[in-house]
Amino acid sequence: LHPQLSLLCQIGCNFLRIGRVRAMASHIVGYPRIGPKRELKFALEAFWDGKSSVEELQNVAKDLRISIWKQMADAGTNFIPSNTFSYYDQMLDTTAMLGAVPPRYGWTGGEIGFDTYFSMARGNSTLPAMEMTKWFDTNYHYIVPELGPDLKFSHASHKAVTEYKEAKELGVETVPVLIGPVSYLLLSKSAKDVDKSFSILSLLGKIIPIYKEVLDELKTSGATWVQFDEPVLVMDLDSHTLNAFQDAYAQLEESFSGLNVLVQTYFADVLPETYKVVTTLNGVSAIGLDLVRGEKTIELLQSLGFPSNKYLFAGIVDGRNIWATDLSASLKTLKSLEEIVGKDKLIVSTSCSLLHTAVDLVNETKLDDEIKSWLAFAAQKIVEVNALSKALVGEKDEAFFSMNTAAQASRKASPRVNNESVRKMTSALKNSNHRRTTPVTSRLDIQQKRMNLPMLPTTTIGSFPQTIDLRRIRREYKANKISEDEYMKAITEEINKVIKLQEELDINVLVHGEPERNDMVEYFGEQLKGFAFTVNGWVQSYGSRCVKPPIIYGDVSRPKPMTVFWSTTAQSMTTRPIKGMLTGPVTILNWSFVRNDQPRFETCYQIALAIKNEVEDLEAAGIQVIQIDEAALREGLPLRKSEQTFYLEWAVHSFRITNCGVKDITQIHTHMCYSNFNDIILSIIDMDADVITIENSRSDQKLLSVFREGVKYGAGIGPGVYDIHSPRIPSTDEIADRITKMLGALNMNVLWVNPDCGLKTRKYAEVRPALTNMVAAAKLLRAQL
Ligand code: GLN
Ligand code: ZN
Repeated sequence: LHPQLSLLCQIGCNFLRIGRVRAMASHIVGYPRIGPKRELKFALEAFWDGKSSVEELQNVAKDLRISIWKQMADAGTNFIPSNTFSYYDQMLDTTAMLGAVPPRYGWTGGEIGFDTYFSMARGNSTLPAMEMTKWFDTNYHYIVPELGPDLKFSHASHKAVTEYKEAKELGVETVPVLIGPVSYLLLSKSAKDVDKSFSILSLLGKIIPIYKEVLDELKTSGATWVQFDEPVLVMDLDSHTLNAFQDAYAQLEESFSGLNVLVQTYFADVLPETYKVVTTLNGVSAIGLDLVRGEKTIELLQSLGFPSNKYLFAGIVDGRNIWATDLSASLKTLKSLEEIVGKDKLIVSTSCSLLHTAVDLVNETKLDDEIKSWLAFAAQKIVEVNALSKALVGEKDEAFFSMNTAAQASRKASPRVNNESVRKMTSALKNSNHRRTTPVTSRLDIQQKRMNLPMLPTTTIGSFPQTIDLRRIRREYKANKISEDEYMKAITEEINKVIKLQEELDINVLVHGEPERNDMVEYFGEQLKGFAFTVNGWVQSYGSRCVKPPIIYGDVSRPKPMTVFWSTTAQSMTTRPIKGMLTGPVTILNWSFVRNDQPRFETCYQIALAIKNEVEDLEAAGIQVIQIDEAALREGLPLRKSEQTFYLEWAVHSFRITNCGVKDITQIHTHMCYSNFNDIILSIIDMDADVITIENSRSDQKLLSVFREGVKYGAGIGPGVYDIHSPRIPSTDEIADRITKMLGALNMNVLWVNPDCGLKTRKYAEVRPALTNMVAAAKLLRAQL
């Protein structure tokens, strides 16, 4: 049989069985599109660089889609998603579907092509890209739609229909996935020139007709199911928004006839009020709920019941982590759900799109078998979903289940996971406050006596440009191609170069430049116990960019100092203070795949203890300033307001644990990569760092307004004076101007002058003149004092 034909039979059969009572039913919310070895990334980048043709890019994309559909079909999946592929981002795809192109991109109608699409995504020679922001509490970033009352909508991208047909031609019946209209609007922002009184939700009436067109075309093409992703349903929604939601789906109802509609939520449980609304929508035949992050979902189902005329898509396999599912426990849960919703109404699913986990464990050649047996990436999760759904209908694969049970047991008992002394130390932490006793203003005085810095002291955030040579040296050392001696010599030379440059530029507090680090989390993870690393465990962050989070599988401890050698080497080269450079516990946690067998705060406290040891070793080695980066503290903030206080408490506590043991004379800095923290400013103050440097250049006013509004901040603060994300070189005047503005909101004696993040991605040709101007601006203002 031709492979595609056999695929056709299989899918046809799987799909038809749904109609029957007691048929197994499995569903996948969405799948990673970047490819098991980042094939899409390389195809995109080659295309953008003009090194490959449109056809080449399209072929890679098509092959990826086909192999994903085939994989799901082979595993026996009944509800296979389509339209979860994207050349850049699914929100941008929706913008294209609705023809909601901001006018400045000059699109004049018709089907939106790559030119317009990628201009919106990445900018072009004359226009910057559209804004990008985080997708809920994940590390995925979406392109934020810019909407206004005058925007004309039209069905300008037929991608959903084309992909559905593409799968159908292969014999794969799929469920086209659309971002629902309410989530789309609520995740948008008003265009710049739009009146403040404009309400985004007022656009519902304009976009619903386009959704209807899409639904009609899908139906004509043969679709029988459609999935609407409405993740905003897990947020704290007011009654106004819930009404809008009801309204939107009432308007769509007409087009729902002849279709089964799944409303899919994820990333948390829904509030009872929301649950009542979602479960009573007419024309909607199924609700998808997250049972992993949605810790209260089961309670909700138990107490409020489930409508007898709808299906429950039960998201039991974790789409946001890499751990193998505990199959027996999950089967139990599913059976109790069957009691509530009815045996023929339960569909086994993933908690959210698998976009947020790694792609395929098969390509992990360096992990040992024991750790591998504890893991499941996207490809393995598909198999789990289907194993569970088969078990529910009495077709349990005993061998697969017992292998899983054995793996779960080995993980629980493994001495690599459990370290008694670490556990004892962390449990002793919880009830103590961990604060430096001297207040920050007095500490700053003491530190100033030692360091004698000028007003408006200058510094940088840590990294200096990572040249091709530097990357090659690290790579060759890792691959054992150069000796340790050669490596140490090369890194030492690099540090020396960076120190000399900073002295020449006359910067006040110097850094060693981080030449030995590939990544600010990986560098520490590799030296700590309890961490494992993958070779292909990539997760899309935005567009073609991927991250490879470490896996924290066991109790964390620090066998030996991690940075002391390099910081002291740097200090020996200069009489100016060197700032030791560490990544904070919350950031290490938030940028890793975290173990799911204990609460996150427990793991965070363990990392905090390891970093604390490092801080104290740096101090003992004579380092006077230590920066503990918490670039990712804010992104771990839970979606639900009711959970935020608890998170902030343990996150901030973890940070304080790292440095509460240092002397008053040691100056602790921290750095954060965002400035929209007006809502968490009290927590930031509570971190009690001596100096905080923050990203600022892209949203000046927002940040400063907190201080203008009277928030008292006695510590040092360095809002970035220029944007390092762009190659542009800021002039002295421009920087001086910025600093002057800051002085309008902040005291002269607390203000630091620094770029807004690390310089790692920039070139020396940009860094040298930019820092020259930065120092000149500080001097200019000092002279005016
Ligand atoms: N110290 C790090 C650097 O300079 C901080 C990076 C970050 O905040 N993302 O690269
Ligand atoms: Zn930063």
